[in-house]
Amino acid sequence: MPDAPPALSVDGMDTTQKTREIETVIIGAGQAGLSTGYHLQRRGHQFVILDASARVGDNWRQQWDTLKLYTPAQYDGLPGLPFPAPRWSFPGKDQVGDYLDSYARHFDLPVRLRTRVVSVDPDGDGFVVTTDRGRYSCRNVVVATGTFGRTPRIPEIASELDPAILQLHSSQYRRPEQLGAGPVLVVGASHSGCDLAFEIAKTNPTVLAGRDCGQIPPQLDSRQMRVMFPLLLFAWRHVLTRRTPVGRKTMAKIRHHGGPMLRVKRSDLAERGVERVTSRVESVADGRPVVDGTPRDVATIVWATGFRQSFAWIHLPMLGDDGWPREMRGAATETPGLYFCGLSFQYCFGSMLLSGVGRDAGFVAGRIAARKALTPVS
Ligand SMILES: Cc1cc2nc3c(=O)[nH]c(=O)nc-3n(C[C@H](O)[C@H](O)[C@H](O)COP(=O)(O)OP(=O)(O)OC[C@H]3O[C@@H](n4cnc5c(N)ncnc54)[C@H](O)[C@@H]3O)c2cc1C
Repeated sequence: MPDAPPALSVDGMDTTQKTREIETVIIGAGQAGLSTGYHLQRRGHQFVILDASARVGDNWRQQWDTLKLYTPAQYDGLPGLPFPAPRWSFPGKDQVGDYLDSYARHFDLPVRLRTRVVSVDPDGDGFVVTTDRGRYSCRNVVVATGTFGRTPRIPEIASELDPAILQLHSSQYRRPEQLGAGPVLVVGASHSGCDLAFEIAKTNPTVLAGRDCGQIPPQLDSRQMRVMFPLLLFAWRHVLTRRTPVGRKTMAKIRHHGGPMLRVKRSDLAERGVERVTSRVESVADGRPVVDGTPRDVATIVWATGFRQSFAWIHLPMLGDDGWPREMRGAATETPGLYFCGLSFQYCFGSMLLSGVGRDAGFVAGRIAARKALTPVS
């Protein structure tokens, strides 16, 4: 096995409190931040990409060991660089992390790692971005910190559970050995919850609780899927958009309840003996979770209940009542110069996908360019 490529250089990092001036700061070097960087670079704009991680792609490397994409490699490339894997293969999490790292290197994108942004504040007609390694003064900020937010969403009832029950959020789950023996309750049946319940049921009696988010029936590696996938992708990019009624309805479902089962299907769960309960887990009795009206003895609970956005560090008026930024196609509606990239349903269902983020990033870069063109020459 070849050694993993070294982390991108952090040379030139400002470790003093001096403020640097730059046209655009992109926060986050995931697929969204990198694609935005690609488009800005092509337009000849000056920018920097800041990321808290030690290495580009770490977010993927920290996923559970057996995670494989549900989108085939031929649809996993970002703008300008195809994914280096056989066209109809499903890359694992480390391959995705390494691809993102190589993408940043290939285009020599100015990524500053180990740099956490702690606040964004207004400053004239621009912003001050404060990090744990110095400040940036800029005209534009692109927030590309993650599709669904970064803060695990765990129901309040978790604190009432017997401390003997091991609890972990899906973002902390890596492999079944973490769990020990005994029955496991997985709460949340979006595609991660289904994948995890399927894996855990190999070793532990498993209950999966949560509403059924639907499923896309053919198996991912079937011939039928090879025909169907391009059609699905077309619908995800051009039909399920914020411009269509069906798209807007889907947007609410995806943002608040999660997506359909893709890799693991209902029949897979049943065959592996996963007990499926479609009601929510909303109460605790005698320290035990109540599942479908009955307190259950479980050794472990995995909360596959998603994430919530936490934008408290952005000191600008931008949040809607639903907790999501008020924006259209990534441009904040009230704050010129503030942009988002990589939001779930930023434009369409496909916005959260590797294959979909490039178009949104191109749009955001275009808006930044248009803003610059409007700036009067002093
Ligand atoms: C389990 C799972 C399976 C998926 N499977 C697929 C699939 O098969 N195919 C597909 O196309 N998509 C898939 N996706 C969807 C999608 O690719 C991901 O959601 C993707 O990671 C989103 O990219 P992003 O760039 O928006 O955010 P992220 O990848 O989350 O990147 C955000 C970056 O921002 C950084 N950051 C956050 N806050 C700060 C801060 N304050 N300061 C500095 N840096 C910060 C983080 O370190 C991170 O590097 C999957 C997602 C998940 C969770």
